[in-house]
Amino acid sequence: MCQGDGSFDTLSERVTQMNTKEIIALSDKYVMHTYGRIGLAPVQGQGALLRDADGREYLDFVGGLAVDSLGHCHPAVVQAIQAQAETLMHVSNLYYIQPQAELAELLVQNSCCDRVFFCNSGAEANEGAIKLARKYAKQTHGPEKYEIITAEKSFHGRTLATITATGQPKYQQGFGPLPQGFKYVPFNSLEALQNAIGPHTCAVMLEPVQGEGGVIAADQAYLAGVRELCNQHGLLLIFDEVQCGLGRTGKFLAYQHYGVDPDIITLAKALGGGFPIGAMLAKQFAADAFVPGDHASTFGGNPLASAAGLAAMRTLLDDQVVENCARVGAYLEEKLRGLQNKYHFIREVRGLGLLLGMELTVEGGEYVKRCQQQGLLINCAAGNVLRLIPPLIITEQDVDRAITILDAALGDRD
Ligand SMILES: *Cc1c(COP(=O)(O)O)cnc(C)c1O
Repeated sequence: MCQGDGSFDTLSERVTQMNTKEIIALSDKYVMHTYGRIGLAPVQGQGALLRDADGREYLDFVGGLAVDSLGHCHPAVVQAIQAQAETLMHVSNLYYIQPQAELAELLVQNSCCDRVFFCNSGAEANEGAIKLARKYAKQTHGPEKYEIITAEKSFHGRTLATITATGQPKYQQGFGPLPQGFKYVPFNSLEALQNAIGPHTCAVMLEPVQGEGGVIAADQAYLAGVRELCNQHGLLLIFDEVQCGLGRTGKFLAYQHYGVDPDIITLAKALGGGFPIGAMLAKQFAADAFVPGDHASTFGGNPLASAAGLAAMRTLLDDQVVENCARVGAYLEEKLRGLQNKYHFIREVRGLGLLLGMELTVEGGEYVKRCQQQGLLINCAAGNVLRLIPPLIITEQDVDRAITILDAALGDRD
């Protein structure tokens, strides 16, 4: 549709090019079939634009699942990776690593936490948080404290412990026996949480804004009440900000909208500007429960990943990217409300910043496909929620283009 509108630099000659059909055939033959993929093979990205293997261009409102917050191939991240790759890529955590220490300092200075553990993904960050919460609780309150309460519709990752923490049975089915010590409560119900706290409870783990579950933000009174209950019962409060953190909601961390400080924060997705890196942050008193030998990750915070993360986070904070997200996010939300007024099958528009969802009364997959055909990539969460998680650097003009396509896609409904 919007083929070759000239907004792209020429494709790098180093990229040897198969066409879409060839890439799909090769992938289907050799890559394990764990993903329900869309028949699209991007080969080049720049800002909020993607180009596929057949030369078609797309406005990308998925951003690698809330990873490419600075857009594709941000020059600051590219430059940092190039320079670090030529100098030192990996040495292991047997040694001290300068960019890792600098990235830890930046995260501490911009959060309520004091210490950082680096890893490679969101699930791994949450594994670390679960281990730290248990170690802290057993040490502080006794061996019977191990249970972590999480929310229904939450998403915390795909490892055994994190699918168990995830309050959605569909992610757990077929993988038992699951680790013990998790309990689920409806999100945004303080009463349910209060009733769920028992003699074994050691922590509460929540996403301040649920992402995979369908873009559901915590209520202000709920989060404040959760903090209060945690204080009363000596529980650690863990915020999984893997998706909603790092500028996505219009503040550096989503909890900063609420003025409710957690004890542990987990991060990943946008942290490396597209390079894989995760982090688990904790307040000093909790972090002290880990001593040398308790937890580790071979790749965690290696020089290359840390240099990418440092460049990405400095850019996010210094280039007014978070402010841009708040402004353009409000603009996009307003435009989505305009669509809601027009189409009766849009039940609700919700979210914060550029983590926005449009709940439909019908399945969303068909609209994702129609948007793709017209040159816009969006995603569907929880079956019927169109999720918009574009790079945070998009402009109002990008939003106008996206809304025009979305409007046409929704209007096509039979
Ligand atoms: C994506 C996500 C995870 C898992 O991150 P991975 O890097 O895929 O392991 C965990 N929590 C939340 C809230 C997420 O959105």
